[in-house]
Amino acid sequence: MSEYDFDYFVIGGGSGGVRSARIAAQHGAKVGIAEGVDWGGTCVNVGCVPKKLMSYAADFGMGFEDAKGYGWDIQKPSFDWNTLIENKDKEINRLNCIYEKILQKNDVTIYSEFAKFIDEHTLQVGDQKITADKILIATGGTPRKPDMPGHEHTIISDEVFHLKDNPGKTILIGGGYISVEFAHILHGIGCEVEIIYRGSMFLRGFDDCLRLDLAEEMKKLGIKLHFNCDVKSVTKNNGKLVVHTTHNTEIECDTVFSSIGRVPNTDNLNLDKVGVKTDKQGFIDVNNSFQTNVSNIYAVGDVTNTPHLTPVAIVEGHYLADTLFGSKPTTNPLDYTKIPTAVFSTPPIGTIGLSESDAREKGYELSIFRTNFTPMIHQLSGRDEKTMMKIVVDKKTDKVLGLHILGKDAPEMLQGFAVAIQAGVTKEDFDKTLAIHPTSAEELVTLYQPVVPAETAN
Ligand code: NDP
Repeated sequence: MSEYDFDYFVIGGGSGGVRSARIAAQHGAKVGIAEGVDWGGTCVNVGCVPKKLMSYAADFGMGFEDAKGYGWDIQKPSFDWNTLIENKDKEINRLNCIYEKILQKNDVTIYSEFAKFIDEHTLQVGDQKITADKILIATGGTPRKPDMPGHEHTIISDEVFHLKDNPGKTILIGGGYISVEFAHILHGIGCEVEIIYRGSMFLRGFDDCLRLDLAEEMKKLGIKLHFNCDVKSVTKNNGKLVVHTTHNTEIECDTVFSSIGRVPNTDNLNLDKVGVKTDKQGFIDVNNSFQTNVSNIYAVGDVTNTPHLTPVAIVEGHYLADTLFGSKPTTNPLDYTKIPTAVFSTPPIGTIGLSESDAREKGYELSIFRTNFTPMIHQLSGRDEKTMMKIVVDKKTDKVLGLHILGKDAPEMLQGFAVAIQAGVTKEDFDKTLAIHPTSAEELVTLYQPVVPAETAN
C-alpha cells in the first residue's frame, strides 16, 4: 500500500487537469483533484465556450441583414444582453456539472477547494492536509491589466462574461485573439468598437495576408483600428470613460476592455516552499515530459509556456497520465509546429503551420498559392466580405508547410485540412483531391497556379 493518500493529485480542474486526472484514474491510479473556482477552468467558464456562444449571437446580428437579399423581410431586430448572458450561464452550468460527473464516474476524489504546497508531497487543500506521490499543477492563467493610471476602470475577459449591462461603446486594448474576437462579438450585437494596438498590425505571428485582409474587413464594418498606438491612461467623467492615447487623442466610451495577454496562476501555490522554478514571465519551467525541476511535480497547460490553447492542455495532460500510469512508455504526440488554431473574428480565421514570412526566414524556397473571392452566400446577401485562402508549399519537397484561411466557416474547413497537413500532405495531394461543388473549400483543391513572386506578402 502506498505511503501517500493519493498516487496522483491534480491542482486545477480545467481542461488539462481534468483530462489528466481521468486518464490516470482509468489506468488504475488513486487520484484526487482540487478546483477552487469553477469546474472546467478558463475554457468552459470564461474562455472558449462562452466566447463561442456570444460569437454566435454576433453572427445572428449580421445574418438578419444578409437574409434580406434572400427574400426575407425582417423588421428591425433588437438585442437583449441579459437574455444572452442568462442562457449562456445555464449552458456553462450544465458543462460544469458534466465535468464533475466525469471525474466522479472515474473514481477521482474531488475537492472544491484551493490547494497549495506544504512540502513536495504534501498539500493544504482547504482545511485538510493531503499527501500524494505525484502532483500535477494545472492551474491555468488569468488575464492581466495594463500598468497605467486608470487601469481600475478597465475590464478583462473574465468580467465581460458577467457584465450586468450591454457594454456599449467599447475600446479594446491589445491586438491578440481576445481583442479581435471581442471586436467581432461586440460589433455583431450592435456596439461601437475600436481597437488600440501598440504594434503596426494586429495578430502578430499570424500570416501577413490574414492580418492585412482581416484589418480591411474590420474597417469595412466600421470597427476603428488604431495601430502603433497605446493607451496612456483612462479617466472617468460623468459616467463615461475617456481613453487617453499615445497619439494624444482622447476617446470617450462606455467600456475599456483590456486584452493584453495572461499571467500564470501560481501566486497562491507556495511554489517557493518546494522550490519549483519558473521562467522570467512566471510560467512554470518543465522539460519535454512536463516534469518540473522537482522530480515528483509536473505542470501542463497555460501555467507553462506552451501555446495557451485548450486542445494543447488536454493532449499534454492526457500524455502525462499515460506516461506516468499507463503500462507502456509513450512520447508526447504533440507537434508544436503544426497546431491548428482559429480566431472567431468577422470573418473568422483558420490557420495551421508556417506563415509565409516564417517559412522564408527558415530558408525554405516557396511556392505560394492564394485566392481572394466573394463567397457564394454574399453574392445575394450583398455583404461586402471576401474570403482569402493561402497555401504555403516547400518547392523542393512539395510538402504543404502552412494553410491560412480568412473567411466564412474557415475554422470548420481548417480542421479537416489539418489532418492532412499533420500527415505530411503534398500540394500534389491537394490537386488530386476532387472538389465538392459548390463550396468555398473547393477553392483549396483547385488552386493550380502559384502567385508570381511580386504578389507574395513580402
Ligand atoms: P495575446 O497574447 O493573444 O495578445 C496580447 C496582445 O496584447 C498582443 O497584441 C500584445 O502585443 C498586446 N500587449 C501585451 N502587453 C501589452 C501592454 N503592456 N500594453 C499594450 N499591449 C500589450 O493575448 P490575449 O489576451 O488576446 O489572449 C490570451 C491567450 O488566450 C492567447 O494567447 C491565446 O492563446 C488564448 N486564446 C485563444 C483563443 C482561440 O483559440 N480562439 C481565443 C482567445 C484567447 P504584441 O503583439 O506587441 O506583443
